[in-house]
Amino acid sequence: MDEGEHAPNGTDAGDADESPVLDTDLVDPGADDTVPRDDTVDAADSDAPDSNTSTDPTGDDSTGTERSVTDPTDTAVTTDSEDGVEAQSRDRSSPGVDFDGVVFDDEDNQGLFDDLLAGEPIFENKEVLRPSYTPHELPHRTDQINRMATILVSALRGETPSNILIYGKTGTGKTASAKFVSQELESTSKKYDVPCEVEYINCEVTDTQYRVLAQLANTFIEKNQAVIDRRLDRLRDLVSGAHDDPTALESTRFASTDELTSTIEQLEADAEEMEPVPMTGWPTDRVYTTFFDAVDYHERVVVIMLDEIDKLVEKSGDDTLYNLSRMNSELDNSRISIMGISNDLKFTDFLDPRVKSSLGEEEIVFPPYDANQLRDILQHRADISFKTDALTDDVIPLCAAFAAQEHGDARRALDLLRTAGELAERSQAEVVAESHVRQAQDKIELDRVVEVVRTLPTQSKIVLFAVILLEKNGVHNINTGEVFNIYKRLCEEIDADVLTQRRVTDLISELDMLGIVNAVVVSKGRYGRTKEMGLSVPIEETEAVLLSDSRLGDIENAQPFVQARFDN
Ligand code: ADP
Ligand code: MG
Repeated sequence: MDEGEHAPNGTDAGDADESPVLDTDLVDPGADDTVPRDDTVDAADSDAPDSNTSTDPTGDDSTGTERSVTDPTDTAVTTDSEDGVEAQSRDRSSPGVDFDGVVFDDEDNQGLFDDLLAGEPIFENKEVLRPSYTPHELPHRTDQINRMATILVSALRGETPSNILIYGKTGTGKTASAKFVSQELESTSKKYDVPCEVEYINCEVTDTQYRVLAQLANTFIEKNQAVIDRRLDRLRDLVSGAHDDPTALESTRFASTDELTSTIEQLEADAEEMEPVPMTGWPTDRVYTTFFDAVDYHERVVVIMLDEIDKLVEKSGDDTLYNLSRMNSELDNSRISIMGISNDLKFTDFLDPRVKSSLGEEEIVFPPYDANQLRDILQHRADISFKTDALTDDVIPLCAAFAAQEHGDARRALDLLRTAGELAERSQAEVVAESHVRQAQDKIELDRVVEVVRTLPTQSKIVLFAVILLEKNGVHNINTGEVFNIYKRLCEEIDADVLTQRRVTDLISELDMLGIVNAVVVSKGRYGRTKEMGLSVPIEETEAVLLSDSRLGDIENAQPFVQARFDN
């Protein structure tokens, strides 16, 4: 399509500063009107993925409270100030709390939350420590970010960037870096008015080919419809302008109102044809075609970010990637480039070799952070999230050290820091101290255990319950045979299938890998070898989680089984 086809600008005042790039991309080249547009801006806006939208509703509140509390009562300040209410109320908000304008209009009306609000908070802005926050600075990721940018810059030149595969363990900053780069890419594309768009998909949530393609199709349909709507608005204005003043079309590329009308009809037909994909029910090839047509509706380069791509492949194979990676040879107007992000370094082993080589044109590795790097990351965040002097000196190094043991996971480090702050806040401490970090570590660890145990398959739960019963009866160095005997009785009690001892041994190994039991193989000389194990998680809490499972909850008085074992 040729920029030169553009009729001279001039219909609309104030358009001169807008580049009409997307105008030429729209629908059919012949139907171009002269009215420049701002499509790139809107197109990019509308797709903001789950990125910054805080998933936690309380989040917005905590930052918004100060302002929203202030505004409605502003009038009260002026009206009530004469009778002294203002002065009293202001006293109540303690210094350091940024509640200057807050007025509690009735002194006796000291509500449940007033004291809590008035307390000296440790946090300046807790949201900054939540996973939903995308930092603007990512220390120790400059190399990775620059490599991504170097590859993706082609998109701004209208060329197709190489596909990229990003690897690294959880919490190494992959998602944060990818989102940062995509925001920069989109804002630069707006600045230069080039049609380049980024689509972010979290494949942990969107985990089948149907859903991925449907989400993409519907996003592009929505964008296309917005583009069409804006264009129609202008064309209809032009029609009514031409109606009043027949010379109005002279400066446009429309020779007649008939031509204009047929363009409008064409656009209306296009919009009509774009049928959104339902959540289920269509054959996959129809979903694919719908996406294909939607993305190819006008010229653009689209970067599709597939975060947690390993989850998609694990759940539904590599068909999606195969289909996406061969699209470019068939697209007429647009180009797509895929950026896959994986926590699992080996996931490409499961890919079709063609998909593997296409997807991995460029590979970027995110190594784990060491304790020093984690300190920098935490310090950056702490500066904006905590009040000045709210942390003792050892807090950040300790959080960093704990998280460094946890494979250098920055998410864990931030969780620790936030939880430590919350615990300090709850205990009404003046500052966050080392002890709060240790408590936070225990709390997070326990939360993790509870979650892991809660989501175990029933058979594993029964095995674990057997171990717990043995421990509770003072058995040390529990061996596999002992576990198996109790396990069998438990299964009979709740009518569950009884697995072989071999399978139970496997389940014990899995529990070992999850860090729930600690099993060691011991040699019994000529009697062969057995596993001896003990529980490595808190017994009371774990038992409570198991019993909250409706099936295991049916086990009444399990004690006799264990007793029987000793009696035999
Ligand atoms: P991944 O996607 O690799 O699992 P994330 O990008 O989600 O990891 O990062 C986990 C958390 O740590 C997020 O809250 C993120 O903002 C933060 N984070 C990771 N790396 C950095 C960094 N270099 N600087 C600042 N924050 C970071
Ligand atoms: Mg991630």
